[in-house]
Amino acid sequence: MADCIFCKIAAGEIPSTKVYEDETVLAFKDLDPQAPTHVLIIPKEHIASAADISTENSAVVAHIFEVAAKLSRELELDNGFRIVNNCGEDGMQSVQHLHFHMLGGKKMGWPPYAEEK
Ligand code: AMP
Ligand code: ZN
Repeated sequence: MADCIFCKIAAGEIPSTKVYEDETVLAFKDLDPQAPTHVLIIPKEHIASAADISTENSAVVAHIFEVAAKLSRELELDNGFRIVNNCGEDGMQSVQHLHFHMLGGKKMGWPPYAEEK
C-alpha cells in the first residue's frame, strides 16, 4: 500500500526501533509509549484491520501471537502483559494497517474505555 506508514516501516523506508523481524512479521517500539514496554507487532503484508482477517491471511495472526510469547520472555514481561488491537472508528484505530499493541511493565487498568458504555 503506497501511503501506508506501517508498510513503509516494514519495507525499511521509514526508520523504527525494531525488536523482532522475520519474513512475515515485524515488531518495533511504539513512538508514543503508553507503558514501560510498548511494542507494536505487525504483519509485513498489508492487512487493513482485524475486520479484514480471513481464512487466506489468518496464519500470520497466529504467528504474531507466537512472536508475542517469545518477546514476552526476551522483554522480561514475566509478570504478564496486555495485547490490544484497535479496529475501525469505534475501536479508535489510527493506523490502517493491522497491528497488535503489546504493553507491559506495569499493572494495567481495566476496563480499558474511558467513556460511558
Ligand atoms: P492505533 O491507534 O491502535 O491505530 O495505534 C497506532 C499506534 O502507532 C500508536 O500507538 C502510535 O503511537 C503508533 N505509531 C504511529 N506512527 C508510528 C511510527 N512511525 N513508529 C512507531 N509507532 C508509531
Ligand atoms: Zn500497510
